[in-house]
Order: sequence, then C-alpha cells, then structure tokens
Amino acid sequence: MNKGVISGAPIRVDLSEGDSQFINEQGYSRWLKNTLDMRMQKKEIRCLIKYENVAQGIYNYKVFLPLKSGWNNNSLVTCTNCGELFVIDSENPETENLSVKQIADSTLCPTCNVVLSMYLAHYPATIRISENQFGSFNDKAVFNQEEESEIVEFYELRPSQKSLN
Ligand SMILES: [Zn+2]
Repeated sequence: MNKGVISGAPIRVDLSEGDSQFINEQGYSRWLKNTLDMRMQKKEIRCLIKYENVAQGIYNYKVFLPLKSGWNNNSLVTCTNCGELFVIDSENPETENLSVKQIADSTLCPTCNVVLSMYLAHYPATIRISENQFGSFNDKAVFNQEEESEIVEFYELRPSQKSLN
C-alpha cells in the first residue's frame, strides 16, 4: 500500500448500535447517500394532469394538481434549485402545525443535494422551468375531475424522525 495516496483522515461511521468502522471519504459519501435515499420515501398520489400556460411564451406545460379527497390533503412543494417535486401530507399528525420549512428542516434535496428548507416553494404557485425561468399556475380555479387523473409518484417530505436517530 502506498501511504502517499491516502487523502484526508478516515471518518468514523456508526453503522448501528455498538458497531462502527472507519471508512474513507468516498465510502462516507456513499454511505450518506444511501442513508438519505432510505429516509426520503416515495409516495404515490392521484393527480390531475393539466397542460397550461405557466409563463410568458410557455404553453402546454405539464402541471400536476393533487386531487383532494377523503382524508387526503396532499400538497406539492418544489425545490427551486432543481425543480424536484415533493408531496406533503397535511393530514399526517407529524406535519400538523409545522411550516413547510420546519418540515424540511435539515433534509437535503435527493436530486441536487441543497438544504431543502432554503429552496422550497409552494407548487404550482412556483414552477421551476429552467435555471433562469420560473412559471406559476393558479390551481384554485381547477375543479377535481377524477377521469383526467393519474397516479404519480413523488418524494414525500416529512419531518425527520430525530427520536429514531
Ligand atoms: Zn433540488
């Protein structure tokens, strides 16, 4: 082994109770990514799909509108850095009385890795079209029409469960 190629000190990682090991930085980022992937679950929700004019010169842009029915009260938020969409279940007792930023807390965007609480906006009031262009759509005027709806999968944003460590 050539000691000259070792970069940075090994990082200690607690894999589970009483079990830890030293891994290098590359292994650490892989471990961190796996951990984040496990934390951010996807959730399927029924959405109305509309093709709308969401900005000047942008027509037929696909807009997802979660159907509100029964106990479901799903709302969408977007990462303004990359456009990833997240579903928040407002009927979940975990999210009660919390703002979107509080729910996101220190969660990293699974797509672009920014701290989500700094880059969240309500969707479709804010739609990230590209790096320099944002659009907007007013969903208040749209009525629920089951027949045009589809099941779509989004990351579910929920408060981090600190007690589980
Ligand atoms: Zn992002």
